Amino acid sequence: MEVRDGLSPVGLGQDGPSVLTVDWSNGHQGRLGVRHLRLACPCAQCVDEWTGEKTLDPDSVPDSVRPISIDPVGLYGIQIEWSDGHSTGIYTYETLGKLCACPDCTPTGETPI
Ligand SMILES: [Zn+2]
Ligand SMILES: [Zn+2]
Repeated sequence: MEVRDGLSPVGLGQDGPSVLTVDWSNGHQGRLGVRHLRLACPCAQCVDEWTGEKTLDPDSVPDSVRPISIDPVGLYGIQIEWSDGHSTGIYTYETLGKLCACPDCTPTGETPI
């Protein structure tokens, strides 16, 4: 889903242990795989700041990784503290929209959850 000006999450929740749900202000019901979200962490420890290359080793992230706490950051994103001890990543609303894996956003059924 493309996040445009003014679109923001109005509610966050979980659907089972591995799916994070995001209710958007336009009524879109987003679903995100939590491990997929963890692997997409955009922070400087997980992505090379200069090349944009991902430096996070997926094997270092347990399959059971879960969000422990989620905090809003300004009016543009959220910060997630993960069960693997990582908490420096800030996910902008735009990123959350891009990673959305709800049936509307993944019509091919290739849900990355
Ligand atoms: Zn990170
Ligand atoms: Zn969606």
